[in-house]
Order: sequence, then structure tokens, then C-alpha cells
Amino acid sequence: MDRDSGEELVTLEHVQRVVLSSCMPLGPIDIGLSDALGFVLAEDVHAADDLPPFANTAMDGYAVRADDTNAAPVELSVIGVLPAGTAPTQVVEPGTAIQIMTGAPMPPGADGIAVVERTEPGSSDGTVRILERVSPGAYVRPAGSDLNRGDLAVAAGTVIGPAHVGLLASLDATRITVHARPNVGVLSTGDELVSGTVPLELGQIRDSNRQGLLAALQRDGFVGIDLGVRRDDEEAISTGIREGAERCDALLTTGGVSMGEFDFVKVALEALVAEVGGQSHQFRVAIKPAKPLSFAAVAAAGGRLVPVFGLPGNPVSSMVSYQVVALPALRKLAGHRSPLPRQIPAVAADDFERRPDGKLHLLRVIAAMGADGRIIVRSAGKQGSHQLAALAAANALALIPDGVGVTTGSEVRILLTGPLE
Ligand code: AMP
Ligand code: MG
Repeated sequence: MDRDSGEELVTLEHVQRVVLSSCMPLGPIDIGLSDALGFVLAEDVHAADDLPPFANTAMDGYAVRADDTNAAPVELSVIGVLPAGTAPTQVVEPGTAIQIMTGAPMPPGADGIAVVERTEPGSSDGTVRILERVSPGAYVRPAGSDLNRGDLAVAAGTVIGPAHVGLLASLDATRITVHARPNVGVLSTGDELVSGTVPLELGQIRDSNRQGLLAALQRDGFVGIDLGVRRDDEEAISTGIREGAERCDALLTTGGVSMGEFDFVKVALEALVAEVGGQSHQFRVAIKPAKPLSFAAVAAAGGRLVPVFGLPGNPVSSMVSYQVVALPALRKLAGHRSPLPRQIPAVAADDFERRPDGKLHLLRVIAAMGADGRIIVRSAGKQGSHQLAALAAANALALIPDGVGVTTGSEVRILLTGPLE
């Protein structure tokens, strides 16, 4: 129950469950490895070969028979040189050594490496003095010592990072199967909104939600599609959503979901779902900011159900709602196996006072690493749902449960929204 308005509220977890259950990972696509960064792997990749493919040396030095060095210091005759990239043509017979560089294949007969720093020139030309005993296998990287042929190299569900790209390249997995990245349309609603550099009339404001959300989509690895601004008119909004649903895998709208007379998004979504099929939900979420939220899965061409997030209009609310509801759903579409944001423990460096109102408060805070290794959080500034400056200064949302707040030094859970300071 919202103690301010008397409305029934639902928990954030409930809304996340409903929304996630209507979003399924997008179908798999084949892409080239050079485009793979940030995609979620849809199928396991197994090593097609041993990695490394042949036994080689980890150090510059001399390939020797370990037994020959038991009485070190000893002199061996150097019968050849093996740079990296060269196949051996000689056998290391007893009493001999081959000079070898990091990465070169182990020559037959040799079973250890005398590193160059533990050698010196021998008493005559063509000899080397091995100063210390070499144990069998010393500095040898056996074939398959990273991965054996057939081993799981990268598991389905992995978010491809630079090291995965490197590993897959070393296995010659040049094309991989990933979940498609959602194309996400962003549409603003409101008669007061102006885009472009024009002087504002009294009552007008610049559209900030669309730009902010398109940037968030870009940051989070989705493809943002700018669907412009629609007037506060049911028909105009409905057409915008309908057209967007044909072009996109998901839609974000802002504004028009509260209790005002001109709040047409929820009306438009309900009417659209009644006409074309799908489901719609009107939520009063027990959070502050971002209490109102419309969500619909709208039937579109090809039997698709396109999730539409009717985010609230206030700039901070729209971004918070994106962060805690839309982002997890988009991550699920993109194939992420754990799409919900992680709650991280931190310590309050300010008093975060509040009054009981039936809601979880999500405060805009600055999280930094404290001297004792724990994360500390302080307020990022004014906490009104129209006050974008504090959101811009923040790198985390602090979760302050219903009650009277949290005092300096107490534990508080946070959601990181940017890099830790
Ligand atoms: P609404 O949810 O449509 O009632 O809007 C709530 C508040 O958010 C109002 O003050 C709007 O002017 C503001 N607002 C709505 N959409 C935007 C937008 N795209 N950019 C900036 N402010 C907005
Ligand atoms: Mg509005």
C-alpha cells in the first residue's frame, strides 16, 4: 500500500518476474569473430584441436636431455638453432643441445629447457655450459596443456569478452553462434517536449529521456532506434507503438503512464493489445522514484511478441525504471543467463533518512572504494525525480528499504550503474 496515495503497490521483484517471464532470448545468429564482442554465446564451442597444438618452450634457452645435466655444470655441444615458427629437423642426441626461442617446438630427444640465464658459453666454439641441473619437463609447454581437443572452450551463455575472442581465434573458431542483439525503439510522449535547438516557449522543455535512454542502450550493448516524439494523443501514440513494434525487438516509451488526464500510453497499450493480441499490465511498483509502469507484450508480424515498456516521464524515473526493469528484460532478450542487476553490499557515508511510505527508495549515490576495502556511498545530490543532475553525478543506486532510513556507518545495498570511483 502506498501510504501517500492509498494505492495498492506491487513489489519490484514481482514486476521483474512478470516482465522477465514474457521475454525470451532472441534466436541464434552466426557472426564473424571480429564482430562478437559483447554478444552472448548461444552454443558451446569445443576445442577442435589441442591448444597449444605442439609441445614448445616457454623460455629462451637450450633444449636438452634432462639426464645429460644431472652432473651440472656440464658442457653440451650445440647442434642447431630453433627460432619460433620453425619445425625441428634434428634430434637432440646424448651430449648435445639445440638453442631454442620461446614458442619453438620441442625437438625430438629433448625433454627440458636450460634457460639462457642459467648457461654460459662453453670452453670451445659450438658448446654451451649448462650451470644447473634441468628437471624433465622444465619450461616445456606440452601439447594440449591449455585445452585438449574436444574440451569445452567457451560455454553457451558466456558474454564474449576480449579474452574469449583471443581464445576462439587461437582455435580457429572464426564464426560463432550468438543470440541476436535486440533492436530497441525509443519513443517520447508529451505535448511539452521540444527537440532540436529552438528557443523554449513557457511550458516547453527539451526532450531528455529519449537521448538518455538511447545512450543507455548503446552503453548496454543494444541497438537503439530513435522513434521520435509523439503528442499526447491516443491515436498518435498507438500508431507510434504499432509501427515501432514492427521494426524493433522491444520498445521503450516515456511519459503518459501516471494518473493524469493526458496519460495516453497505458490507454493506447491496453487498446492495442485488445486489438492485435498480447498482454498488458499496469503496475504501481513499490519503489521511489519510478512507481508507475506500463508493460505490454504486443503481438507483431511473424508471431513475435514485442515487449513494450511504458516508463514514467520524469527523467530520473525513466532512467531508474530502465535500470531495474527494462534493462534486465533486454538482457534476457540478448541471451544473458542472469539478467537481473547484482546487489552489492556497501557502507553508508551519509545519513540516508526517509519516512515510511510503503516503498523501496532508490537513491542516487556516489560509490567509492573505502580505505578498508569496503565500498562506501554518499549522496549524489538532490533526490527529486526531475533532478537529473544528481543522477548524472551518481554511479550507483542505494536501496533504502521502507522505514526511517539508514544512518552513517550502516550497511546499505547498492546497484552499480557506472564504474566504481
Ligand atoms: P508524465 O509521466 O508524462 O506525466 O511526465 C512526468 C514529468 O516528466 C513531466 O514533468 C514531464 O514534463 C516530464 N517528461 C516527460 N517526458 C519527458 C522527456 N522525454 N524528457 C524530459 N522530461 C519529460
Ligand atoms: Mg506526459
